[in-house]
Amino acid sequence: MFTLGTYQVHFLTFWCFLKVKRKDRWRNGSKKKFQSQVDRETEFLDVQESDQKLNFKLKGPEGEIQQGTCRYLIGAGGAHSAVRKSLGLKFEGGDYNNEFMLGDVHVKSPQRMKGLHAFFTKEGILAFFPFDDSGNFRVIYGDFKNFDAAKKDLTLEELQFKVDQVGPKGIVLSDPSWLSRFRIHHRMAPCFQMGSIFLAGDAAHIHSPIGGQGMNTGIQDALSLCFKIYLNLRRGAPFELLKGYEQERLPIAKDVLRATDLATQFALSNSLSTRMVKKWLLPFLIEHTPLQKKMAETISQLAISRRDQKIRSNLKIQYP
Ligand SMILES: Cc1cc2nc3c(=O)[nH]c(=O)nc-3n(C[C@H](O)[C@H](O)[C@H](O)COP(=O)(O)OP(=O)(O)OC[C@H]3O[C@@H](n4cnc5c(N)ncnc54)[C@H](O)[C@@H]3O)c2cc1C
Repeated sequence: MFTLGTYQVHFLTFWCFLKVKRKDRWRNGSKKKFQSQVDRETEFLDVQESDQKLNFKLKGPEGEIQQGTCRYLIGAGGAHSAVRKSLGLKFEGGDYNNEFMLGDVHVKSPQRMKGLHAFFTKEGILAFFPFDDSGNFRVIYGDFKNFDAAKKDLTLEELQFKVDQVGPKGIVLSDPSWLSRFRIHHRMAPCFQMGSIFLAGDAAHIHSPIGGQGMNTGIQDALSLCFKIYLNLRRGAPFELLKGYEQERLPIAKDVLRATDLATQFALSNSLSTRMVKKWLLPFLIEHTPLQKKMAETISQLAISRRDQKIRSNLKIQYP
């Protein structure tokens, strides 16, 4: 094994990683709190706009076609969004060829593992992101080799093999709650609004999970858009306000795509110069306080301000 750099990153100590099951509990909790209705096993098929109304078609659990109308529609169906497709919008960008493995697992290590650990090796990159202080981690391995679509689902044994191969000695993985083999993409819709139809989350933009920005960006899309729709429907704010959604969120998504693309290309590059930067410069830079602050602000997206401030203050409304 040829380890290029091994270090602990201190600036992300406030970072919060949540397991998938916990996210589901939140979803169910908020559903009860806000009395919203979720129709399970119901598929959105198509939408057409006529007479300033949106006519949509759904397929129910028994395959029955349901039709309805609505004033606004938000396409939040993820990367393969049917709403985006029914608008005929392209999903412009590209793919990375590399294979990635992910495991939400328990990690037993001979050395104390606290905080985020990253290992750059000549085979690929290995990172451990802590969920808590009791040894539960998200383990991600990015291989310099190409993704092979014919490979079967990832097993714990395969992930353990990679950790043994490129990580520190003596680490034992167990109790997986999620295992996944995937490849990553960077793509974005050219616009996030067409009339009364909007795109949010992965339906509008997808990028490398480096930096854990995907869900953050999607949640902020949803907050911005739903708040504007609320102001329009309940507080008499003009329809113009809704145009602010794309003006506000599209440049942010573009920046996230650009930054995560750069970081991913750097992380996946195995050239001599990037290996030297990873080994000598990165550990030094990451200890540098102003850079830590800048990275923490960028990754947490706390530095983002909203441009509808004036309209909100005229309506005397604060964010919930
Ligand atoms: C391996 C991996 C690891 C990741 N790790 C992180 C991380 O650590 N941190 C982070 O912030 N982000 C991470 N992400 C990204 C994050 O998962 C996504 O950004 C986020 O889930 C996007 O949420 P979404 O609601 O927009 O889309 P999705 O989570 O894809 O949800 C879309 C929903 O719409 C439903 N749907 C789709 N089509 C239809 C239809 N026609 N009709 C009805 N329903 C439909 C789907 O069933 C699904 O429930 C990761 C992604 C991957 C692939």
